[in-house]
Amino acid sequence: MNPDPATRSAPGLEAIHDFGAKLRQPSLRPAVLEYVQWRRQLRAARAAGAAAPPMPPLGPASINLDLTTACNYACDHCIDWDALNLPLRHQDDELRDSLREMARRGLRSVILIGGGEPTMHRGFCDMVRFLKQELGVQLAVVSNGSRNQRIAEVAHLFERGDWVRLSLDAGSDEVFQAMHNPKGQGIDLQQICASAALIKDQGPEMQLGFSFVITWKGALRDSTAVVENLHEMEQATALASRHGFDYISFKPFLNRAEEGAEVMDPGTAQASSAAVVAAIETGLAAARKHENASFRVIASTNLQVFLQGRWQDYTVQPRECHMQWLRQVVSPLGVYNCPAHRGVYKARVGGAAAWAGGGSEASAGTARLLDEFDASQECAEVTCLYHPVNHLLEGLIDSDEDLDQAFPRGAEGQDSFL
Ligand code: SF4
Repeated sequence: MNPDPATRSAPGLEAIHDFGAKLRQPSLRPAVLEYVQWRRQLRAARAAGAAAPPMPPLGPASINLDLTTACNYACDHCIDWDALNLPLRHQDDELRDSLREMARRGLRSVILIGGGEPTMHRGFCDMVRFLKQELGVQLAVVSNGSRNQRIAEVAHLFERGDWVRLSLDAGSDEVFQAMHNPKGQGIDLQQICASAALIKDQGPEMQLGFSFVITWKGALRDSTAVVENLHEMEQATALASRHGFDYISFKPFLNRAEEGAEVMDPGTAQASSAAVVAAIETGLAAARKHENASFRVIASTNLQVFLQGRWQDYTVQPRECHMQWLRQVVSPLGVYNCPAHRGVYKARVGGAAAWAGGGSEASAGTARLLDEFDASQECAEVTCLYHPVNHLLEGLIDSDEDLDQAFPRGAEGQDSFL
C-alpha cells in the first residue's frame, strides 16, 4: 500500500474527477469511515467463520437520477440508445419517498441526467424545487439544451457548487444537426447557446458547462458510423466562451459492449489512436488559447488517459467495486450500481422504487452486489473514472492501518458529486 496518504488521489485529475479528495471532505468522510470499518469487520468475520455484521444504515452519497427515458433527439453517438423512449415511468410519490430515504441515509448530491432528456419530464421544475428546497442537496443537470427555458425557470434555486451542463458536441449547426437529429422545429446550436445565457442570468452562482464528446472517423455505435466532430473542438470552444459558459469539457467517444457496459472500444481506439491522438492534442491546444479567468477548458479523465496511452490501466478494477455503495443510478428501469451499467441486469440493485418504504430492498441489493458483482470481470473493458478511488478504498479495507492516518480529513470543497 502507498505509505503516503497525501498521494493516494491520482495525480493530474481535474478537481471534479478527484473523488479521493471529495471523499475526504468532512461532510462525506464519516460515512466513508463507517463503510470501511464495516467491510473490514465483514471480511474478518467471514475469515473466522463468524456471523457477518449487518450493513450499516447507509445509502449512496450521490446519485444519477434519470427522471425519464423520453428524448426529443436521436443522437448518433448516444450511449443509452437501447433504453430511450421506453413506456416506463417513475411513480412520483414513490420517487419522492425514495429520495427522502436516501437523504436520511446521507445523500448529498443529485445529477438529473439521461437515459433520456430530464427537461422532457413533466415534473422537472417541481422535482428541482423538491430537491433544493425540501432535501437541500447539491444539484446538477445534464441536458441536451432544447428546453433551456425550463431550466432557467428554476435556476434561481441553484447555488455555488451546483451546475448545468449542456451536451452540444459541435461548433457548427451543420455538425450539431447531423449528430443530434433533434425532433421539432427551431432547435439549432446558436439558439441553444443564446438561451443558455438565461440559465446563467437566473443562477449566477452555478457553473454552466458545454460538453463535447469527441468523435472521429471510423468510430462506430454498434455497426453505425458516427458523425466526426474532431475538427470543431476550437470552434465549439469559441462559441462556448462567447455565450457565457464557464467551461467546455471534452471527453472521448464511448460505446456499449455486447453485455451492456460502457466502454472505450479497443478496436476503434487502437486502430485510429496515433492520428486521433495527434488531432485531439491539436484541438485541445487551440481550445486552451480561449481560456481566461472566467472560462476553462477541461479534459476528462477518460480523455487524459486516452491521450497518454494509459486508458487500459483504468480497466483494472478491484473485485469489489466500492463506488456502487457510494453512487448509484435511479431510473424508471430500476436502481443500478453504476452509470456504466445503466439498464444491465447483473448490475441491478432493485426496482425503480427500491429505496422507498425504508430502503430495505435497495440496502439488501447493494450488499448483494458488493458480494456478487465481480468488477474485475464485469468492468474489465470499462475505462473507469473511479479506478483510483476504488483502489484507494480497497487498500483501506484490506489493511489494519489507523484510518485517521491512512485517510486523513481533507478540506470541504464545493462539490460532493460522484
Ligand atoms: S468498477 Fe467502475 S465501471 Fe465498474 S461498477 Fe464500479 S464504478 Fe462502475
